[in-house]
Amino acid sequence: MFKGTNASAGIGIGKAAVIKEVEMVIRPDKVASVEAEVQRFRGALADTVAQTTVLRDDLATKVGEKEAEIMNGHLMLLADPMLTSGIEDAIKKDSVCSEYAIETTCTTYADMFAAMDDELMQQRATDMRDIKTRMQQTLQGIKPVDIASLPEGSIIVAKDLTPSMTAGINPANVTGIVTELGGKTSHSAILARALEIPAVVAVSGVLDKVQDGDSMVVDGSEGVVIVNPTGEETAEYSARREAFLKEKKDLERFIGQPTVTKDGVHIELVANIGNPDDVAKVLQYDGEGVGLFRTEFLFMDRTSMPTEEEQFEAYKKVAVGLAGKPVIIRTLDIGGDKEIPYMGLAKDENPFLGYRAIRLCLDRKEDIYRPQLRALLRASAFGGIKIMIPMVTCLDEIREAKALIEEIKAELDRQGIAYNKDIQVGIMVETAAASLMADVFAKEVDFFSIGTNDLTQYTMSVDRGNEKISYLYSTFNPAVLRSIRHVISCAREAGIMVGMCGEAASDPMMIPLLLAFGLNEFSMSASAILRSRKMITGYSSQELQAVADKAMSFTTAKEVEAYMKEFISQ
Ligand code: PEP
Ligand code: MG
Repeated sequence: MFKGTNASAGIGIGKAAVIKEVEMVIRPDKVASVEAEVQRFRGALADTVAQTTVLRDDLATKVGEKEAEIMNGHLMLLADPMLTSGIEDAIKKDSVCSEYAIETTCTTYADMFAAMDDELMQQRATDMRDIKTRMQQTLQGIKPVDIASLPEGSIIVAKDLTPSMTAGINPANVTGIVTELGGKTSHSAILARALEIPAVVAVSGVLDKVQDGDSMVVDGSEGVVIVNPTGEETAEYSARREAFLKEKKDLERFIGQPTVTKDGVHIELVANIGNPDDVAKVLQYDGEGVGLFRTEFLFMDRTSMPTEEEQFEAYKKVAVGLAGKPVIIRTLDIGGDKEIPYMGLAKDENPFLGYRAIRLCLDRKEDIYRPQLRALLRASAFGGIKIMIPMVTCLDEIREAKALIEEIKAELDRQGIAYNKDIQVGIMVETAAASLMADVFAKEVDFFSIGTNDLTQYTMSVDRGNEKISYLYSTFNPAVLRSIRHVISCAREAGIMVGMCGEAASDPMMIPLLLAFGLNEFSMSASAILRSRKMITGYSSQELQAVADKAMSFTTAKEVEAYMKEFISQ
């Protein structure tokens, strides 16, 4: 049995289709005519661009625009004169063959990207290696592995799934994906989730242990891979697979149902999204709106800032897609650890306590914040957009941001541009300071959304990404729970809407507590919506008061978790 990272939920049972790239031997062979070799390279480059364009269009129709964007990234690299002239210079300088010039030039760039401590740059390194191999294969007349014609019931096992391979996947034939590399947010994981194929990534050493045609089980929910399972294991996982599919199917009866507790409390059940294409999934799973649009994704994977116009189009698309339902759009939460190379940010000593989110935006009003707020205001004419400010710690930040919004509104009035004059402005409550001052903040803003991912980190002083101290990172810690309860009660007292968009909002053990505390809105990944609606409609918020009182009487996270686990299993 292998353990890896659970990248896409569900159980896949089938036969291994091991994808091993044909080994190419790349040697520094000398060429007779440098000019002819440069022409040979240019021909291969043009062919690779053409193939990539086809792949992009395939992805756009089979998976989605967002996924096709990955191929646009490849096209951008292939069109980069720094790279192509670098390769041509290498051919000329040493009179070497194109394959070798590509190898050295692309590898230099890929290594440079890989050395940067940033997930996006790591991805760029993967992209660079992908196009390197494809150009070399084109030169050598090697056809890439034909994933499109894998037989039914295939489980793809590969070192990493390059986007160009994934483009060919037929979800009707592929029942699972296992890779040695990658993480939850790597492109292969994103694509697997988009196609709803169970996937486990970062399974080290699996390629050495599996042969083409071996029987396999992939548990994408738990991150488990079994090669040549016993009869018993196959039976166990078949049953789990049936249960997973049955639950998924059963939940469909909650589509179109209102989210109301047994004692008549209406709850807003909305989705977290990262880009406009995610709206399709929100509608598929009957989300009642968007509770968090993380706009930083619009700024990633590109080489320059999205313009006001591009942002306007993106926000408008979401607003129109949700046809008047609430759409909470969070202004840029970037900086510190979430680096964007073209923004020219220095590395912070303490990124999570550093120059990020609203701090950065207020410091860079002209080039960053104003265009984003203008785009948001303009898009507000097309739907239920609300503006949300992240990482707030003090009142001055809210006032300064609101003053800028008022300034832009006046500017739009002068220009005769439409926008929603009553647009709501709220904040993420995700720092200890914001929680402690919630009663004051509640009088200044239209709504709260509790960001438990950060609130837990800042309350417990525990880096949310540090494995070594992850035992401290629990939203069930009484300190975090008191903070959440306090924020909700301050909002209710002031009569403003209070939601939650951190991961805790979809945690089955947390939902009963949040209902008892009086949370109005739950925002989560679209695929968790129906399961949460089923839970919420099964409870009476009055009856849950006693459960919450009991939970809050414990003094450690472990006790609370054990109690809630038992409660929900009843
Ligand atoms: C949070 O902090 O809970 C949150 C929703 O924001 P992010 O995970 O993007 O920091
Ligand atoms: Mg946050």
